Amino acid sequence: MIRATTFSGKHVAVFGLGGSGQATAQALVAGGANVTAWDDNPDTVARASAQAVPTADLRGIDWSAQAALVLSPGVPLTHPKPHWTVDLARTAGIEIIGDIELFVRERRVQAPDCPFIAITGTNGKSTTTALIAHILRASGRDTQLGGNIGTAVLTLEPPKAERYFVVECSSYQIDLAPTLDPSVGILLNLTPDHLDRHGTMQHYAGIKERLVAGSRTAVVGVDDTFSSLIADRIERAGVVVRRISKRNVVADGVYAEGSRIYATNGGTSSLFVDLNGIDTLKGSHNAQNATAAIAACLEVGIAPEEICQGLRSFPGLKHRMQPVGRRGQVVFVNDSKATNADAAAPALSSYDRIFWIAGGLPKEGGIASLAPLFPRIVKSYLIGEAAPAFAATLGDAVPYEISGTLERAVAHAGADSAADGRAAVVMLSPACASFDQYKNFEVRGDAFVDHVAMLDGVSMLVETNKGN
Ligand code: ADP
Repeated sequence: MIRATTFSGKHVAVFGLGGSGQATAQALVAGGANVTAWDDNPDTVARASAQAVPTADLRGIDWSAQAALVLSPGVPLTHPKPHWTVDLARTAGIEIIGDIELFVRERRVQAPDCPFIAITGTNGKSTTTALIAHILRASGRDTQLGGNIGTAVLTLEPPKAERYFVVECSSYQIDLAPTLDPSVGILLNLTPDHLDRHGTMQHYAGIKERLVAGSRTAVVGVDDTFSSLIADRIERAGVVVRRISKRNVVADGVYAEGSRIYATNGGTSSLFVDLNGIDTLKGSHNAQNATAAIAACLEVGIAPEEICQGLRSFPGLKHRMQPVGRRGQVVFVNDSKATNADAAAPALSSYDRIFWIAGGLPKEGGIASLAPLFPRIVKSYLIGEAAPAFAATLGDAVPYEISGTLERAVAHAGADSAADGRAAVVMLSPACASFDQYKNFEVRGDAFVDHVAMLDGVSMLVETNKGN
């Protein structure tokens, strides 16, 4: 655990005691702060109290005595409207920060030069974060991986020289980190998302910009207009910028031409690596993630050979276009994280012959936007509540069956792909939420893996989940 010592001896109000909030409160207590923590959920308050975190309703405390309000990233700071604790903190004139801010302050005190790579963007954050951490670990570096990817940043090992931190940051976390100063900040891309929480695209982009504006070196994807303008703007302000692109040559950075990745330096570009054959980095979206990882790793001094080795051995991230099993020329792919049509599109674009398992709890818009990709689908196996609507969209364009359950879909797609006898993927990329049949997309993906493991003759590429 990282002890948050920068509030030692001071009063701090903490609101939000879910996963990262609990860790934050404990890190502050361990660092000597006088914490008062609260949550709207009595169960999480009770759990915090049991962990020796002092709790009290924050409506009743003396706000003028507090040095800061530390908020969980899930709690609204601005949109749709500020949380009541935010109003109280603002009235008292105290700062409002989150766990990433506590981390950066601690790093500045304990080991200001330890390499710290922070990653944001609308899509691809977790993949890029995991890929960078994998490259660093594979090259033998002491590497800590956390943030929005699932491990609360303050539960990591403390900063020290030669320890690398790779931290995924959501917009919510950046919004609560006013002095975020990574050695390398990555902005992958920007498309409208979470506007319910951020109001306008300008506001959302403005928050993301702060991560790269505060970086020593910024790695910015310039394939969308918002990010491209940000790259120009922060460069004018003095930040060293490395541009990355999945389709265009860049003057000083890393870019992709199909699966071939080039690095340019001083205007000269040379082939860095070909991603062809790396199953876990298929598709142009992953080319973008790989260019970002390469640019960042070069920036923190990792040798090109070490980076290439890491790229080649990347196991992929669970539930995101993850190859989980193989039978002859058929690969079974778990893309359970694709909970809407936009997220399923990169996966469908990445393969030519797909036995596609889709459905679940439908999202607005359905799968009509995926029509240009329908020619890649050999047959579709529809599950859950969305099945009738998806069947109507597929119409005569794609053969389909209403399988109903994931178990039946895997059995039927497995049998059809074996009878077909040609190279193909059997892929769960549901374009739907999971909640009609599963607790969440992770449980759905794990179930897919278990059903694949039950098929005859499949060699599993990952461990199954039964018994865990
Ligand atoms: P995030 O952490 O930003 O949600 P993930 O790395 O978890 O992103 O990827 C989630 C899904 O988003 C993937 O399954 C894939 O469909 C899509 N995706 C991944 N990388 C990119 C990218 N660079 N651009 C667009 N879509 C992407």
